Amino acid sequence: MLQTTLAGSLPKPSWLAEPEKVWAPWRLEGAELQAAKRDAALVWLKEQEDAGIDIVSNGEQFRVHFVHGFLQDIEGIDWAKKTKMGIRADRYFVDVPTVTGPVRRKGSVHGDEARFTRAHTRRKLKFTLPGPMTICDTIADAHYGKRADMAMAFAELLNQEALELEAIGVDVIQFDEPAFNVFMADVRDWGIDALHKAIDGLTCTTAVHICYGYGIDANIAWKKTLGTEWRQYQEIFPALNKSRIEQVSLECANSHVPMELIGLLPDKDVLVGSIDVASNAVETADQVAATIRSAAKYVAPERIYPCTNCGMAPMPRAVAVGKLKALAGGAALARQAL
Ligand code: ZN
Repeated sequence: MLQTTLAGSLPKPSWLAEPEKVWAPWRLEGAELQAAKRDAALVWLKEQEDAGIDIVSNGEQFRVHFVHGFLQDIEGIDWAKKTKMGIRADRYFVDVPTVTGPVRRKGSVHGDEARFTRAHTRRKLKFTLPGPMTICDTIADAHYGKRADMAMAFAELLNQEALELEAIGVDVIQFDEPAFNVFMADVRDWGIDALHKAIDGLTCTTAVHICYGYGIDANIAWKKTLGTEWRQYQEIFPALNKSRIEQVSLECANSHVPMELIGLLPDKDVLVGSIDVASNAVETADQVAATIRSAAKYVAPERIYPCTNCGMAPMPRAVAVGKLKALAGGAALARQAL
């Protein structure tokens, strides 16, 4: 009961990439970079195991960004053709690469790192992939014409990748869909269909992570516009509850999301975000336990997985380690109490 896990990323060690940045450039290249990524993954597996995290990951040490890590080896994307795009309904504007032809996987994207990670831990292993809707909100389209069509094309590629990860021994595959909080009508119209295509044929555990983003300035400014109660989840949970995705990862710590909304997911495992990633203040175990206990008012404890609100990539490394320990410590306290 109350198995702990992470939403996704962990900070890169300072010898691997510039610390405390979302798009941190690598500090090495070629074979040295490949070796350094593996070393960083080993560091984080050990830190997670020592902290007492039950379902571990490689902390996304092999990718520079949670979306572009998957896209970098996909055919049909012109990385030189940059298009200025308003991301997450114009929350911020960036020059993004452009899809100029049918997308196709040239080969395995994450297979090597998954095999490496699998070989170095006996714990349950989670692997994260960007969700189809979030991919389409992070890349420009000059080929498909309709976002839903492009999402289905990417979902097919994600499915190929996910089946391979499952065969390598990954226990949980999670799709990151921060765009689900922004395009709620699209979630109901085609977002969940795209996820279903991405998990087609999988027998491992499947999850979707829906957050309010990293603690970066653009997200903090956006959150201020959402009012005192954030009810975006309410518009998509009934449809998600009917979906074939088994777990839903949510932001609950220091959040303006009313906790009662998780009661709209009676048939799902709920990954209760009990660690705030927008603050460098390390939670106490008591604070974490309090978040878990308040979630347990609406979801049976057997269905609760204490988790982080989102990835911890932009945080100082020592803070992330402290938060891992707080998460496991808080889950242990809550386990006793419940
Ligand atoms: Zn997130």
